[in-house]
Amino acid sequence: MKAVLLRFGELFLKGENRHLFEMALFNNIKKKLQGEKFKLSKTQGRLMVTEFDDEKTIVEKLTTVFGLHSLSVADELDANEDSIYEYCKNIKLRAKTFKVEVNRGDKRFPIKSMDLASKLGEIILENNIDVSVDLFNPKQKIMVDIRANGKAYIYDKVINCQGGLPLGTSGKALLLLSGGIDSPVAGYMMAKRGLKLEALHFHSYPYTSPEAKQKVVSLAEKLSNYNDEIKLHCISFTNVQEAIHKYCSPEFMITIMRRIMMRIAERICKREGLGAIITGESLGQVASQTMQSMTVTENVVENTPIFRPCIGMDKEDIITVAKKIDTFETSILPYEDCCTVFLPKNPVIKPKLHQAENEEKKLDLESLVEKALASEEVIFVKPNE
Ligand code: ATP
Ligand code: MG
Repeated sequence: MKAVLLRFGELFLKGENRHLFEMALFNNIKKKLQGEKFKLSKTQGRLMVTEFDDEKTIVEKLTTVFGLHSLSVADELDANEDSIYEYCKNIKLRAKTFKVEVNRGDKRFPIKSMDLASKLGEIILENNIDVSVDLFNPKQKIMVDIRANGKAYIYDKVINCQGGLPLGTSGKALLLLSGGIDSPVAGYMMAKRGLKLEALHFHSYPYTSPEAKQKVVSLAEKLSNYNDEIKLHCISFTNVQEAIHKYCSPEFMITIMRRIMMRIAERICKREGLGAIITGESLGQVASQTMQSMTVTENVVENTPIFRPCIGMDKEDIITVAKKIDTFETSILPYEDCCTVFLPKNPVIKPKLHQAENEEKKLDLESLVEKALASEEVIFVKPNE
């Protein structure tokens, strides 16, 4: 029988929270594998999936669960000498050098780890031609894990998972999701730290096309592979942009837009019980991502932290993550974003707070925010099976 052995890393650091983290991980795995045939069990603080049909799908899904560091697909046999020897006789090595490592989790097993390892090494040598043992730099490692449930698990591959903390264990937050490359990456990075995401998208229909919105839904879909279902709030920004365009100096357009986005985001956070705002900003990338711009923008947020996990990343590094989480190809589809509509030629790079506040006096802010909120459309986005 096959078994998938699961390893979690950082959880053990969490002291008294450990139990909660393990429970969350356990439940998140169960939820992720919903619809598949499987059994998830926990013995001696270790997690394992057995009794499944579709190994490939099970493994694929498990590699997107935050909190898991690695996994191995093992053969499960009875933990007695005969069946382990018999199994090892049939091992056909892939590489020319190998090593056997034994972990005797069950000390009742009569042979010590080192002795068993060398005995199994001999058996494998006998049945493979032209191979040798290399204890320090083997090309293939045969791992034998003997557990207290009376079973032995044998495997030779370790598949890396995402790491991070189980989804939801850090709370919930609101991702400002544009159609660009950076914000999906920002969402992935914070979800990895245990934040369950909701997303907020501003569109400028009819200046932006329905396809531009569909693109954001597709991005949310990709993200939901890591985040379970995502509640996506779509808000029309058209009135706001038209008003700013009409009444404010063009070079302040983006600053004021971003301040209004933040006000709306914080209202949604309060209403939905979300503890932080997440953006894909990266220092110096564009005019609105200077320290001065961010100071003026976040000044309107009263008591919600803004997380900007991409702040210190180069574009290439962000793209690497975007490719890994499969959002890149969607992000580069050529639909316009609301920020590119009415784009001024020379946005201020170092806006001052009093200047922004003076510009805003020309607007009926409260009514603009209210109207925008009234346009809200909510879409529940699930992974695309
Ligand atoms: P991205 O690649 O994420 O679009 P960007 O480099 O294009 O980022 P900006 O357009 O300045 O940068 O946006 C900075 C951040 O503001 C985005 O990462 C996103 O979090 C948020 N944002 C921008 N436009 C929108 C939008 N239309 N709806 C929701 N959030 C937005
Ligand atoms: Mg953008």
